[in-house]
Amino acid sequence: MIINELSTVRKSNRYEVLKYIFSHQITSRIDISRSLNISKMTISSIVQDLLDEKILIEVFSESTSIKAGRPIRSITLNDQYFTILGIDIGVNHINLIAYSLTGDIFYTQNIKPTDIVNSIYVIDTIITMVQECMELALKDKIVIGLGVGLGGIVDSSGMVINSPDLQWFNVNLKELLDQRFDFQIEVDNCTRLMLNSEIHKNPLFTTAPDKNILFVNIGYGIGSAIFLNKEIYSGISELGHTYAGGNIKCFCGSQGCLETLASGNALEQLGSDLVGYQISGSSLDNLAREGDVEAQKIYTHLGEHLGISIANVINIIGIDTVILGGGISNSYDLFHSSLYKKCHQNVINVLKPSLQIELSVVKNDSVLYGCFLKILFDFFQK
Ligand SMILES: [Zn+2]
Repeated sequence: MIINELSTVRKSNRYEVLKYIFSHQITSRIDISRSLNISKMTISSIVQDLLDEKILIEVFSESTSIKAGRPIRSITLNDQYFTILGIDIGVNHINLIAYSLTGDIFYTQNIKPTDIVNSIYVIDTIITMVQECMELALKDKIVIGLGVGLGGIVDSSGMVINSPDLQWFNVNLKELLDQRFDFQIEVDNCTRLMLNSEIHKNPLFTTAPDKNILFVNIGYGIGSAIFLNKEIYSGISELGHTYAGGNIKCFCGSQGCLETLASGNALEQLGSDLVGYQISGSSLDNLAREGDVEAQKIYTHLGEHLGISIANVINIIGIDTVILGGGISNSYDLFHSSLYKKCHQNVINVLKPSLQIELSVVKNDSVLYGCFLKILFDFFQK
C-alpha cells in the first residue's frame, strides 16, 4: 500500500518536472526544485531516470554562474530521439507534421484529398503518409504516438460518431489505426485540439485560469469547444449545427444551421452567387476590401449570425471570453463590429459589461500542435 502511494507521488512529481521543463525549455535541477518545492534529492533522482531514458539531455552553460571553474549543468528535453505525429483531416486537406519533444518540426506533408467522404481512402492515405514520413525523416527516432484531428462528434474512445463535413458516420478511426501502428493513437475533434493549443500559447489561460471560454473555429464549417471549470469540456459542442435561421439544407441533415449561414463554405456560396462564378473565400475577402458594398454586406450578415448564436451559448453557460479561430477569422476586421454588436445586444444584461471577444493567438497548424500536446502530456504521465 505504502509502496503504491510512493510510486503515485513519484509519478506525479515526474509529470510536474516534465511539464516544467517543457514550459521553461532549458533549466537546472536547482530551479526545478525551488519552483516545484520538491527536494533536491528527489529532483536529482527523477532527472537521472529521465536522462537514462533519453527523454532529457544535459547541456553545459558557459554562463556567469560557473562555479569553481566548472560550467553549470542545465537540462532540457531531448529533441532528437523521440517524435510525435499529428494529422489534421479537413474537407480539402490532410496535413501531417512530425514534432520533436520540444515542439520543433522534423517533417511536414500536405495532401489534397480526392475522396474525403470515403473513410477507407482517408485511412489508407494516412497510413501511407505516416509510413513515408517514418522512412524519409524518422529512421533514427522513436515514434511516441499519433494524434488525429477532424471536425464532427468524436467520442472518448476515438470513434467518429458523425462528421457532417466529411459525411462520416460511426467510423472507429482510432481502432482502425491501432491495428496498423504499434504506438499510441488518439483521435479528437479538431476544435478541441485548437483549444488545447490555445491553452498552451495564450497567456489568458495563465493570468485568468478560472474563466470559462468558448472557442469558435470558423473554417470550412463551424466548430466549437468549451473551456469550463479549468478543463476542456469533453462532451458534444456543435455550435455550427444550432438553428440560426432560414431553411438552407445543412450537411448534417438538418436545415437552417449556423454553418449554412456563417461558415467558409457559406461565404463561398454567397460570394459565388454575387459574382456569378465560383470564387474562393480569399477572393471574396479581397472584393470586400476593395470596397464592393455587396461583398461587405455578406461579411456583415456573417457577423450578425455568429453574434446571435454566440450570445446564446454565453447566456446558457456563463462564458467570460470568446476566442475566434479558423481561416475565416483572418477576415475578422470585416465582420468584427456586426458580430460584437449583435452579441452584445443578445447577451443577458448581467454579462454585457464583461463581454470579451478575441482572436486566437495561434495562427498556424493549431490542430496539429493540439495533437502534439495531447500525445506529449500523455507521455509525460507514463
Ligand atoms: Zn447542420
